Amino acid sequence: MFVDQAIITVRAGTGGGGRVSFRREKGEPKGGPNGGDGGKGADVVLQAEDGMHTLYDFRGVPLVEAPHGEDGGKKQCHGGDAPDMVIKLPAGTLIYNDETGELMADLKPSDRIVIAKGGKGGWGNEHFKSSTNQTPRRATPGAEGESFRLRFELKLIADVGFVGLPNAGKSTLLAALTRATPKIADYPFTTLSPQLGICELDAMRRIVMADIPGLIEGASKGAGLGLDFLRHIERTRVLVHLLDAQPPDGSTPAENYRTVRHELTQHSEELGNKPELIVLNKVDLLDPDEAGKVAKKLARELDVDAKQGMLAISGAAHTGLKPLLERLWVMLHPKGGGVENWKAVGGAAET
Ligand code: GDP
Ligand code: MG
Repeated sequence: MFVDQAIITVRAGTGGGGRVSFRREKGEPKGGPNGGDGGKGADVVLQAEDGMHTLYDFRGVPLVEAPHGEDGGKKQCHGGDAPDMVIKLPAGTLIYNDETGELMADLKPSDRIVIAKGGKGGWGNEHFKSSTNQTPRRATPGAEGESFRLRFELKLIADVGFVGLPNAGKSTLLAALTRATPKIADYPFTTLSPQLGICELDAMRRIVMADIPGLIEGASKGAGLGLDFLRHIERTRVLVHLLDAQPPDGSTPAENYRTVRHELTQHSEELGNKPELIVLNKVDLLDPDEAGKVAKKLARELDVDAKQGMLAISGAAHTGLKPLLERLWVMLHPKGGGVENWKAVGGAAET
């Protein structure tokens, strides 16, 4: 599982202090106590926010402190309560107490959870008046707010997984398509940890993509593919099968396609049955005529339509990326994904 993680200490606001004061009226020596109570310190609230997909924004934010309540005033004036401090998080975030390991919350869409309560305000001196003490000089301070070291954990599921032989250009393509690369939890085979990126086609459309260095690289290095890893790529919805248009070892794109397909189906039937987009990469190495011929030959050998069944791109030269993204979007959202009349309005990729 890809886990995006952030650790942050939250401190709810301290209550405002109670006030010591006395009524003063002209000609009277001293009136009764009238010091008001302090206001409540701010709660720290966690709120699920649509459209957030990573915890990236929390990097380098070690502590958030909510505002304090206002002190009580004279004439029984109650200090103001501090407004809630709201932290926006993606739905699906698990919130742990990092000190005890306890799961405190599991944020669902549109949830709003008070995670740390603000301290109550202190009492002003009017509360301390009694038959034996008409002029109390006593008030209490506001209570401290709750404070926790929280660990946010978000499991990210990639929509699209990149497969292909080593050097097909998977990492290069991921870097070309995505900006943010959240930190990924360590995998047992650390040199083969999958990379994840979020591609923003436009304000409304995002695709989470994973470069999957798995199958063949893992097998060739004797690294067992962890079940977690396999489970993860099984949950991706579409595969991009990346092929080097001109493999340096003299093999052909069609041969390499079959090698990877074999690995996929060997590892898991489910993986083998996933919708797949065949993408001929590194076409910048060929002149356009030659690239066209390679594409046609590949289409013939794999028995797919040269226009519908595949795409030609260059991850390094950033060509063909926009059509690639649009194609992937349609594969992921065959009915338009609930967004009507969408159109691409820029994004990370250039064509
Ligand atoms: P991966 O093993 O599939 O992740 O492949 P990499 O992204 O690491 O790329 C392998 C090599 O191919 C690197 O030397 C890249 O610079 C090169 N490469 C990747 N994409 C392209 C491309 O579109 N055009 C060209 N000419 N080279 C590329
Ligand atoms: Mg790579």
